[in-house]
Amino acid sequence: MIAENIKQVLSELPAGVRLVAVSKYHPNEAILEAYQAGQRVFGESKVQEMTAKYESLPKNIEWHFIGHLQTNKIKYIVPYVALIHSIDSYKLLVEVNKQAEKTGKVINCLLQLHIAEEETKFGFSFKECEDMLAEQKWQELRNIRLCGLMGMATNTENIEQIKKEFCSLSNFFKKIKRTWFSDTGTFQEVSMGMSHDYKLAITAGSTLVRVGSKIFGERIYK
Ligand SMILES: *Cc1c(COP(=O)(O)O)cnc(C)c1O
Repeated sequence: MIAENIKQVLSELPAGVRLVAVSKYHPNEAILEAYQAGQRVFGESKVQEMTAKYESLPKNIEWHFIGHLQTNKIKYIVPYVALIHSIDSYKLLVEVNKQAEKTGKVINCLLQLHIAEEETKFGFSFKECEDMLAEQKWQELRNIRLCGLMGMATNTENIEQIKKEFCSLSNFFKKIKRTWFSDTGTFQEVSMGMSHDYKLAITAGSTLVRVGSKIFGERIYK
């Protein structure tokens, strides 16, 4: 079942769009099933859960952190995380840099933008993000690498609204890229699209889709 779902989703991704299989709340057995189907990139939203999975599963899995990250937990994921999608404040970026410095690593990070209508979702506003970049202090952070942007659309049936939100992120990415990262090949990711809206996200220019329930089934929340 999981293997078939993976194949189904992969068949819908154009070249240049990668799949992050969101395995949060699903057991190791489910991840191994996806792994055996060839999937290597997995997304998790809780530090403890991701670290436990990292420790017990094959070491060539690429772990992406996609949830709200607390500063006191950064140190647990720094040794192995491949990409943090959810940098939602400058303070967090500084903390990731600090923890990474201790181990001599450079951590790949995406800036999370708040593009949805819901108040509850984390992230920079476009203005906050631009102001933060314009201050240029981030240029001194040697142990993080900014690789792009991440966003979540409003949870709605209104397709036009979802499209509009994804396009706003995609356009913002282009603007930021032009202004601050035109010479930085590694600033290239637009992480957007989940089970119910990844096709819209791809049309709008996503490079990383984060798909969970469509692959693993509904989550049972603890
Ligand atoms: C849970 C989660 C997903 C996956 O959601 P599905 O609807 O199960 O595909 C994607 N992105 C983030 C940030 C998440 O927390």
